[in-house]
Amino acid sequence: MHIQVTGFSKTKHLSKVIKVADVKKIVERITTKLMPRISDDIKYVIMFTDGKTMPKDHEASAAILGGKYAARPREFEIIVNSNVHFKSFVRYISHELLHVKQWSCGKMYEGAGFTTWLGRRYSNNYQDKNYWYLPWEIEARGYEDALMWFTVHSYGCNSFRQLKTKLRIK
Ligand SMILES: [Zn+2]
Repeated sequence: MHIQVTGFSKTKHLSKVIKVADVKKIVERITTKLMPRISDDIKYVIMFTDGKTMPKDHEASAAILGGKYAARPREFEIIVNSNVHFKSFVRYISHELLHVKQWSCGKMYEGAGFTTWLGRRYSNNYQDKNYWYLPWEIEARGYEDALMWFTVHSYGCNSFRQLKTKLRIK
């Protein structure tokens, strides 16, 4: 697995409380949990930005890098709003890594102007108000809590408070 973290030094909140090494460790652990057989081949660019550049109602987003419309892609960019608290960061990164799993395992496919989910084609012209009802969004949200607790437990902790103490997060 290769993880590049960018935009971190310029970020406001998160870069003050968490180290790049811990960002990488969390991404690595969740990826290995979700995709044990292919995790070695996965490459990420994790980009921290201030919230202003994020689309409305989004604190994070994921995109496929290298080879547009590739089936079972292996390279991804994940953008995260850095003006969030640590616990929210773990939630958002968990959500986006679940989308990575959906793409890399072939459950979801991005074509020109459409997305395929389990073989069913969805036009990308869906209205904003229906966005959160899309099946891949419902699935990603459904995994958030499980992956957040997986992260906490992977450090031998039982709460976010304990994990923050362990990682020396203020
Ligand atoms: Zn999503």
